[in-house]
Amino acid sequence: MARYVAWIAETAAPEKRSPVFVAYPAGFDFLFVYWYLIRFVGKSPFSHSALDVKTYSMAMLKCGYREAGKRNMPKRWFDPHPHTHVALDDAIEQGALFCKHAGGEPTMTTVAPYNEFTPLAVEAAQKVFVLTGAGISAESGIRTFRDANGLWTTARLRLPGARSTPGRVSRGGRRVAGGWRKDAELVWRFYAERRAQAKTCAPNAAHAALAALEGKHDGLFLCTQNVDPLHERAGSRRAVHMHGELFKSRCESPRCDSLPFVDAGEYRTAEQIPRCRCGARIRPHIVWFGEVPFDMDLITDALEACDLFVTIGSSGAVYPAAGFARAARAAGARTVYVGPEAPENARAFDECRLGKAGEVLPALFVR
Ligand SMILES: [Zn+2]
Repeated sequence: MARYVAWIAETAAPEKRSPVFVAYPAGFDFLFVYWYLIRFVGKSPFSHSALDVKTYSMAMLKCGYREAGKRNMPKRWFDPHPHTHVALDDAIEQGALFCKHAGGEPTMTTVAPYNEFTPLAVEAAQKVFVLTGAGISAESGIRTFRDANGLWTTARLRLPGARSTPGRVSRGGRRVAGGWRKDAELVWRFYAERRAQAKTCAPNAAHAALAALEGKHDGLFLCTQNVDPLHERAGSRRAVHMHGELFKSRCESPRCDSLPFVDAGEYRTAEQIPRCRCGARIRPHIVWFGEVPFDMDLITDALEACDLFVTIGSSGAVYPAAGFARAARAAGARTVYVGPEAPENARAFDECRLGKAGEVLPALFVR
């Protein structure tokens, strides 16, 4: 221990700085080291305190303590050192992690008007994940679920994009299934209104910019929380609709082997609701609250592979989509938000570029 203290003194001396003990977890590792120092040397060059790697990560990642574990740390923080429980191996591993921490890119979120940022340069080999939310459609006049509040609360439905309403406790998916079972007519009337309204809306410059990017960049993965067809109408061919599609319907029976089909019908009475050839009713091809979003396997793979993650007009309040930015960042991607105001999950982004999607998108990507 005396040689250890001498080595530390020698290492720290040139700059006359007091050394700081860094450990993971400090509360455990430093307890022993401190006791050895006092027992065998009579003093601690570190004083009585240590810096805990996990606590430090919590500050860097801007998340809770329990979330700040190795699983959620970005891969770029790790060198390929083994964790062997041999003191020297683990010290090297943790030292490398701490150096990456301290020298890593800033994880502060820059929030500013969009024209204060330079465009995003997209290299041919880069994987770009774009998530679009209600904001991009609202600029085309599509009513959001919040606007349609009266309608869906009357229907006693819980729908994707709809947050809990005051005085009403969520019962998960049961309410939607219950709503559909109890009053399919009311559910269909809701979607008939939405279909009628969506038919009057046209894609905007943001949809067009994403369709243009798809045309020249194979590495684009476009995922939308929106059920409207504005991406397709703008020319996108590979949009993944995680919450379903307004202009598709399917059989309500999970045991039926018929496939979802294109359907622009507006069914407003029980008699108008079509039947499948199996006899069950036809329902909207929409992911209701409590149902599993579509294509989560594809989405998860694309998040892990992406170099650049861009969210456009999503409030950051609806999971699982609200967690995509953090997942992409953990996989090492740069994360960018575009919308008129910073979202609820703003801290998961490196940059929040404030502005309307239709104004920001045409000049956002340089390819
Ligand atoms: Zn059927």
